[in-house]
Amino acid sequence: MNVDIFTLFPEAFEWFISQRHVSNVLAQGHTLACVNPRDHTPLGAGQVDDTPFGGGAGMVLRVDVMEASLRARYGCDPVTLPSRRRVIALSPPGRPLDDALADELAAEPEVTVLCGRYEGFDERIIEHFTSDVVSIGPYVVSGGELPAMVLCDAVLRKLPGALGHADSAIEESFSPALGGDPEYPHYTRPAEYRGWRVPDVLLSGHHEEIRRWRREQSAARGRLGREDGGTASDG
Ligand code: SAH
Repeated sequence: MNVDIFTLFPEAFEWFISQRHVSNVLAQGHTLACVNPRDHTPLGAGQVDDTPFGGGAGMVLRVDVMEASLRARYGCDPVTLPSRRRVIALSPPGRPLDDALADELAAEPEVTVLCGRYEGFDERIIEHFTSDVVSIGPYVVSGGELPAMVLCDAVLRKLPGALGHADSAIEESFSPALGGDPEYPHYTRPAEYRGWRVPDVLLSGHHEEIRRWRREQSAARGRLGREDGGTASDG
């Protein structure tokens, strides 16, 4: 898949791109490119934002600037883009990012991600140039760069070859393989530490019992999460 990230801070992605699971998928021909709207602004002095009509604090990313950067990248009127590729604006009130959305995006050949800054986007950007608005949660961070990395990480690790073991991304928290439940607890050596013993079943070598125990643990965590409104610990 080809992912384009529109960001005023492309250097923020250098660390992300160097992560093993990301470099693994890039080595297979998938791409992740950053486009800086400031490089394409038709305004003077690299201006990309402006004060909000109606007053209030902060600055708003301009629709003409976003259009210019999308035109420069795709060579077309960006109103035609959403019918051809997923164009995602990152915004706190958007569709919550979950495993199902990550699966959906992992199947897309072309994805564009728009990172907001300051107060966010002129609403016309969202109305006319995007197919989706996505949120990483009901809280506000200061820019779309961290949300874009969260989204891209959740999506790219689903691509074949991203993780060391092909199975790692299949049986994970919230995945269909676990019926949408959280993952079961993991343990490693030592088998006993300060009197805290690893559950015997995991040391038993009985694969069927281990599988059943894990499924039960996973389902119990799912029930707990639903009962207390999703605040159950992931262990
Ligand atoms: N004034 C906006 C917040 C702007 S934060 C509001 O109250 O909704 C600046 C930018 O950071 C946003 O445009 C968005 O791109 C990004 N951002 C902040 N929190 C986010 C979240 N929870 N999910 C997705 N993007 C977020």
